[in-house]
Amino acid sequence: MAILVYTENFDGKFKKSTYELISYGKEIAKVENSEVVAVTIGTVDAGVLNELSKYGASKIISVKNAELNDFSSQAHASAIVQAAKKVNADVVIFANNPNGKAISSRVAVKMDAGLVPAAVGIPSSLAPFTVRKKAFSGKAFADMVITSDVKVLTLTQNSFKVIEAPVTAVLEDFNAEISADMFGAKPVEVVKTTGKLSVTDAEILVSGGRGLKGPENWGMVEEMAEILGAATCCSRPVTDLDWRPHHEHVGQTGKVVAPNLYIAIGISGAVQHLAGVNGSKVMVVINTDKDAPFFESANYGIVGDAFDVVPKLNAAFKKFKAGN
Ligand SMILES: Cc1cc2nc3c(=O)[nH]c(=O)nc-3n(C[C@H](O)[C@H](O)[C@H](O)COP(=O)(O)OP(=O)(O)OC[C@H]3O[C@@H](n4cnc5c(N)ncnc54)[C@H](O)[C@@H]3O)c2cc1C
Repeated sequence: MAILVYTENFDGKFKKSTYELISYGKEIAKVENSEVVAVTIGTVDAGVLNELSKYGASKIISVKNAELNDFSSQAHASAIVQAAKKVNADVVIFANNPNGKAISSRVAVKMDAGLVPAAVGIPSSLAPFTVRKKAFSGKAFADMVITSDVKVLTLTQNSFKVIEAPVTAVLEDFNAEISADMFGAKPVEVVKTTGKLSVTDAEILVSGGRGLKGPENWGMVEEMAEILGAATCCSRPVTDLDWRPHHEHVGQTGKVVAPNLYIAIGISGAVQHLAGVNGSKVMVVINTDKDAPFFESANYGIVGDAFDVVPKLNAAFKKFKAGN
């Protein structure tokens, strides 16, 4: 038996969330007395691959097929299923990100496996296999039981910490059997944003809402993000109004985020917004209206005008960083 973790690489690099997945897999492997096997697709340097062993991956499979340089959930799923069968995996774990969601569902079908998307904790029991996920846009938790022999999970980012558990890893190259009919759709062009922290990867998010009145007022939000090493994001009306780009929209219909710190400025805290941000570890809300719903979910709240509060906070953060 083995716990197989799909370790997606981004231009040959892994993200912190990858190490969370390995740590999570290791925790399950300890209980069932098995090993963690990582599978990655594409070219990654041996040194980078070996990083995975720091968190407990004792085998690292690199799928080398050149045709998989083009993303196809069907082809990627097939390669991962072949790797899973090769190592006799009984649990297959993915990140709950767009590719993880797209591939995991296909893997579950191909392996006759039960799938729990967006798990938030370590299984409370392995027999029966019971794992917790969020339900009703984060308003409740559901404990899900998977009864199939193989279990497939996607893990919500930031819901499990990175734990060092160094082992010596065996690196193995693998050529999967891939056929042309697995590429129903091919990306024509991939345009990546550069130079900015991505909303889903940032540990700190500074988010603005309609209370900021217009795009010309985002300077102080960007300044706060710059000081804190954060990414900026926003509520949906802000992108609907074209004040900010669509990739910054968080919420039920936007990106789901789980940073360590979420600072919401001039955002009411509608349920559709909270659905995308209530996985944040700490939420700070700045709003003129003391009855704004966001204050009910916030860990810290400042009732005040953003145009007064934010510049003062920025000045205080700068002073703090300068050690005064
Ligand atoms: C199907 C559906 C899906 C949706 N999906 C999403 C989603 O994914 N993400 C999302 O965000 N929304 C989503 N919405 C919209 C959501 O219901 C809310 O309308 C939206 O989140 C409100 O955005 P807001 O808080 O920025 O604006 P508003 O509701 O206009 O709130 C602005 C807030 O700013 C405060 N304010 C005003 N002036 C200041 C000031 N000077 N200083 C400080 N505070 C101030 C006000 O008190 C108010 O609380 C969805 C709605 C539907 C129906």
